[in-house]
Amino acid sequence: MATLAFETIPHGNPTPADKRAALMADPGFGKVFSDHMVTIRWTPDKGWHEAQVRAREPFRIDPAAAVLHYAQEIFEGMKAYRLPEGGFSLFRPEENARRLNASAERMAMPEVPEELFLAAIEELVKADADWVPGGEGSFYLRPFMFASEAFLGVRPASEYIFCVIGCPVGAYFKGGFKTVSVWISEEYTRAAPGGTGAAKCGGNYAASLSATKEAFANGCDQVVFLDAVERKWIDELGGMNVFFVMDDNTIVTPKLGTILPGITRASVIRLAEEAGYTVKEELYSFDQWQADARSGRMREAFACGTAAVIAGIGTVKYRGGEFAIGNSGDGETTTQLRAKLTGIQRGTAPDAYSWTRKVQA
Ligand SMILES: *Cc1c(COP(=O)(O)O)cnc(C)c1O
Repeated sequence: MATLAFETIPHGNPTPADKRAALMADPGFGKVFSDHMVTIRWTPDKGWHEAQVRAREPFRIDPAAAVLHYAQEIFEGMKAYRLPEGGFSLFRPEENARRLNASAERMAMPEVPEELFLAAIEELVKADADWVPGGEGSFYLRPFMFASEAFLGVRPASEYIFCVIGCPVGAYFKGGFKTVSVWISEEYTRAAPGGTGAAKCGGNYAASLSATKEAFANGCDQVVFLDAVERKWIDELGGMNVFFVMDDNTIVTPKLGTILPGITRASVIRLAEEAGYTVKEELYSFDQWQADARSGRMREAFACGTAAVIAGIGTVKYRGGEFAIGNSGDGETTTQLRAKLTGIQRGTAPDAYSWTRKVQA
């Protein structure tokens, strides 16, 4: 399919430069939004149509819109980086396009042609180029799709809106890297075989929030989910995949299936193998995690995803107690893999795998 032409509707009231600079000085994560958004509509007769770049503003949707009742919604998360030589870089955005479509298929939603997805992302980066921070910051892009049809019957909706919004974000770890503490959720699970664990859908997150609340109540930063059948095997965190670094230079990570196939995860596996580690994608139990951490066989553990890139795990808490990983600080392998990955993403290291896609403003 030929890519749709985007209609640009001029912003009537863009944020003045001084106000934008103030907002971008300490944007945090997901709180400050850029001026524009991209929207594209889908109906059965027209397919994708009405592609627009326009001022970011609230949607007007019917109170009966299917998404508000049955949560037919999927999303992606990716970043644009300001390059030292000018222009911007996207990290493996084709993978986000493919994953969005895998999620769409699972949730009985229409697919977005890859070229259209990429064009939508690039349109927003160009429209909001001034909102892309330099230095340690980046521009977080949130493409998403939801069922907008007003209908309360239970079946896949026949109208959808695809939208991309963006926010400038600062360094995930302000003032140097810190390890995170994680809480093992023994009561709540995230995804069962045959369920939606591998789809990036809002419903998975809605179902994960009680466990996150429990993690916070126990003084932890993040939650770790176990498998839904045996409550034994490590799946992943609420929104990040997890890796375990052993003292014989093997790295273990849970295999795909009910977990979200992270693009950071796939990239880490590649970089780790290239660096000489043996990476095993396999079942790994919580019991084994405790044993390996306590015996010292496990040197490091880290979580990874687009937002944090790579975050070392320092402490693990559960109902029966807690244990530390290594010396609870950022380990050597964690630091090394993070440096390799962020170097490629930010354009300061050679891109040996052609993972980045350049965008000129
Ligand atoms: C998005 C996400 C990840 C990380 O995926 P990346 O492509 O690396 O950002 C991991 N787990 C869950 C549940 C997610 O939603």
